[in-house]
Amino acid sequence: MILFHNLTPYEFGMLTKKQLKHIEGRLMDERARALKALGLFDRISKLDRESMDSDLSAYTDHMADQGTEAMEREKAALFATKEGRYIYRLEGALRRLYNDPKTFGDCHTCGSAVAFERLDALPHARYCIDCKRKEEDEA
Ligand SMILES: [Zn+2]
Repeated sequence: MILFHNLTPYEFGMLTKKQLKHIEGRLMDERARALKALGLFDRISKLDRESMDSDLSAYTDHMADQGTEAMEREKAALFATKEGRYIYRLEGALRRLYNDPKTFGDCHTCGSAVAFERLDALPHARYCIDCKRKEEDEA
């Protein structure tokens, strides 16, 4: 993993390189746990291992490449479950983290940094606690 090799801590704003690695680990763990709950872990790990660049895109790209009707049905069934949607969110967060580590952890509503403690507890969180509370008040 060479994601952060040319970046020094504190270039990320609120989150240090070490904190981002921690969140990455949390997302990977949660993803593995949710996949296990769905009985998909062995299969997905195999896809991960088979991929040349060994990142999570292997999973979705592989599924997309296959493009068979059976696979489409399976995917639809997967994302219809609570666990499946959770995995989808976790992978979205991993993608954000890899693609744009500098803004990872910024609230999608107000742009301020989401507290590290909140990200540790809820690594796929996209909103700071204030915006999340506001949203819940309005709901
Ligand atoms: Zn916010």
